[in-house]
Amino acid sequence: MKNIGFILILLGIALGALGGIFFPEQMLSIRWVGILFMNMLKLIVLPLVFSALVSAIASMGDLRKLGAVGGYTIAYVMLSVSIAVLIGIVLVNLIQPGAGIDPSLILSNGPIEEHQSLEFSSFLLSLFPPNIIDAAAKFEIMPIVFFSIVFALGCTACGDSAKPVVEFITGLRNVFVKMITWLMHLTPVGLFALLGTAVAEAVKQNRLIESVKGMALFLLMFLGGLFLHVLWQWLVVKIVAKRNASAYMRAASGALVTAFGTSSSMATLPVTLAVAKEQRISDPVAKFVLPFATTINLAGTAMYEAVSALFFAQILGLHLSIWQQCGVFVAAIVAGMGATGIPEGGLVTMITVLRSVNIPTSAIALLLPFDRILDRFRTVVNVWGDLVCAATVDVFIKRKQDAQAKRAATKYDGSFSKTIKVTEEGNDFIITGSRHLKVLPAKEYELTKPLE
Ligand code: ASP
Repeated sequence: MKNIGFILILLGIALGALGGIFFPEQMLSIRWVGILFMNMLKLIVLPLVFSALVSAIASMGDLRKLGAVGGYTIAYVMLSVSIAVLIGIVLVNLIQPGAGIDPSLILSNGPIEEHQSLEFSSFLLSLFPPNIIDAAAKFEIMPIVFFSIVFALGCTACGDSAKPVVEFITGLRNVFVKMITWLMHLTPVGLFALLGTAVAEAVKQNRLIESVKGMALFLLMFLGGLFLHVLWQWLVVKIVAKRNASAYMRAASGALVTAFGTSSSMATLPVTLAVAKEQRISDPVAKFVLPFATTINLAGTAMYEAVSALFFAQILGLHLSIWQQCGVFVAAIVAGMGATGIPEGGLVTMITVLRSVNIPTSAIALLLPFDRILDRFRTVVNVWGDLVCAATVDVFIKRKQDAQAKRAATKYDGSFSKTIKVTEEGNDFIITGSRHLKVLPAKEYELTKPLE
């Protein structure tokens, strides 16, 4: 069934491209089919972004209970996703893959919207409109994103009384994810129409070859960016987590291949957990970090969102100010979080990023033919990032526990002659022996020996 879907997509691409080259007029006359497909995507994006963000952030409420594990995880995820987006932004500014591509490839399916002011104050004001429903109706996504974040924090602050709200919104998110899965079945038709129209425009303007070259440059640049991201994380495994990074990557290969095959970090989660277990990442760390990171640590996706938006801006000849690029930076991080680890989730939430700089959402059509394959690569990078996150948090937690154990041992040195249980900074330790003290985290000790 999966193969049939893939073949249909290839067919949609091939027919669309051929139709655009040989029957440009006819292809332009079915432009509305592509617009219909884009409208369906846009229809889901707002509720998806709202529900995915609220459910991801509200579930962080439990982080406080998880203490250090939660803190380290969030810090790592934010750092890693920011670095990914930064790598993307730097590459796209240096390489300028969009320069020279025909803008009508984007404008053929939708007009450019009125451009936002470049000033910081108007950028900030645009994030906080007086009426959120009005903002949603105007499809202004960034205010919705900020509203969702604050709403989720409100849910967390209310504690148990807001639990039903969070559960409802999580259920809602699952429904939207299901709807996207259905919509993706229509991709071959959407692709046929969108690509066909874009190629037809390029043919009419005689700029097809130039555009193909630019696209190839963009694809290579993005894959290069992903490689750089994997590389610095490889160094983190080696230097920070103090593991044999090549061996860790080899051990992760089962999860990485599954990620490539399924295009979904969520679907890969059971394999990712198995890798962590095999690599002796402590159970409480793996069981919290991996599911959590799978929903929000989508660095490959976030990089994709940022480079695509800037690439489109270059094609359209829009000069984005530093503030607007900062806006893209934030929007890409948030859009990565909203993509929820499902196949092509990133493609849907990219609309958020494009809207933040007023790029016509139909620009996505340019990427559609390549998205299936790019999705596989970014999913591999996302899953690798989750495993690196787990290894890093694990080593920090172990270091912290060792330090606590040492402090506990020093305090009680010589003052007892039997096994006792002590608590240091909220963690229990068992100290045994009278001359040579042995300190163990309570959980480990209880597994081997009952308390005296
Ligand atoms: N498929 C990606 C993942 O599951 C999300 C995306 O980039 O679309 O990690």
